Amino acid sequence: MDSVVAAVLDESTTSATFLSLTVPETYQGAVVLKEEAGLFEGLDTRDKDPAKALHLRDVPTPVPGPGEALVAVMASSINYNTVWSSIFEPLPTFAFLERYGRSRPSASRHDQPYHVLGSDLSGVVLRAGPGVQRWRPGDRVVAHCLSAELESADGHDDTMLDPDQRIWGYETNYGGLAELALVKANQLMPKPAHLTWEEAACSGLVNSTAYRQVVSRNGARMKQGDTVLIWGAAGGLGSYATQLALNGGAIPVCVVSDEHKADLVRSMGAELVINRAEEGYRFWKDADTPDPREWKRFGAHIRELTGGDDPDIVVEHPGRETFGASVYVARRGGTVVTCASTSGYRHDFDNRYLWTSLKRVVGTHFANYREAWEANRLIAKGLIHPALSVVHPLVDVGAATRAVHRNQHSGKVGVLCLAPREGLGVEDVALRERHLEAINRFRVPPQEAAAATGDDS
Ligand code: NAP
Repeated sequence: MDSVVAAVLDESTTSATFLSLTVPETYQGAVVLKEEAGLFEGLDTRDKDPAKALHLRDVPTPVPGPGEALVAVMASSINYNTVWSSIFEPLPTFAFLERYGRSRPSASRHDQPYHVLGSDLSGVVLRAGPGVQRWRPGDRVVAHCLSAELESADGHDDTMLDPDQRIWGYETNYGGLAELALVKANQLMPKPAHLTWEEAACSGLVNSTAYRQVVSRNGARMKQGDTVLIWGAAGGLGSYATQLALNGGAIPVCVVSDEHKADLVRSMGAELVINRAEEGYRFWKDADTPDPREWKRFGAHIRELTGGDDPDIVVEHPGRETFGASVYVARRGGTVVTCASTSGYRHDFDNRYLWTSLKRVVGTHFANYREAWEANRLIAKGLIHPALSVVHPLVDVGAATRAVHRNQHSGKVGVLCLAPREGLGVEDVALRERHLEAINRFRVPPQEAAAATGDDS
């Protein structure tokens, strides 16, 4: 792997040099193991420790097939799907790999007793498979996580509607938390030139998801002046939803759970912030009984901040704990746009507030290639910035994932794969200088980051 890293770090290396490099027969990846899928049986979700299930293993290098590419991964990031995979919830991801493996002969190699995780990467194309025209060895890239087969007519208006749509590194093998990764060539996008490898690797999944959820015609179709309520506004999705709202002339109302996160969203330019911990909202009286009085108290707080406006858009992902409140507080005719259910996927809401006030609930999931490309373009132009807070070496992937599971992080948690240290990979120094303050906004000093992820298992 050393010659690959040396080639990437030497900026004069040509495509021909990359082609002449020997592709290693094996590489290191962060895996969960099929034989350990029962590891946490009987434990509460919060007591399941990702660090116990995530291992660094040598795995055989897959050969890119038609329309695929093998990428030397410089950096990646932890997404919440890394948490789900590593605690085997809501089900072990091996079920996805088995199903994919059965679907077509070319996919059978995804069905392995190990699952290399990771749905983000920045890196360099090492090999392009047969038929790939647009990308060549040596191209500096980021990857989005939509893997689609597109053999059915259904996916040709919107690739997220392809019945053979999968999330790479979650529902497929050979993900980005590794030294090498296998992607479809139509997952690749140009690496933003002003960012380091680790900054470039952290936005793909969450920024594209937030873009579809908030901006796209497939989501809430945000317009100038809209009031946008954003749960977890300093988290992965929320830090991008907040930027997209501000950048698009909307008015975000940011919900966070501590003052540090409140300061972060203010530093992005958000003025209306709710600290849900300080306010002590309890939307459920007990496990089975929602408390509409708390929805009303929450709605009144939003109106107090906005000068009387209810949210045109509610960006939902916490799920069970907040969904009833989200439906209640949305404006008459407004949209609750949901992409997740972190706190539970059986939602409870009072339908009278939905139908009599003509509100809509819209489900969205990741983004199609076009949406991901547009979201990446905003990053490349310095209009949206990576919300990278801390960076770990690949060997610490377990502790990094545990910090996200415990909500000890803000923004995005990065992972160095082949990049030997932080700070490498910048090509456009002038653009970087212009945006340096915004790029560094979420960064946590290394000592504090180490304390937050401290290995107490
Ligand atoms: P994240 O970085 O952990 O951020 C989520 C934020 O939500 C947290 O920072 C927390 O903020 C807030 N939150 C968590 N539990 C909450 C609760 N019970 N009530 C209110 N707020 C709560 O995770 P993420 O990357 O943003 O992902 C969030 C969810 O979306 C995950 O379930 C993930 O799997 C899903 N997701 C889905 C897609 C898709 O394509 N469908 C894509 C990306 C993510 P505070 O503590 O500051 O309030």
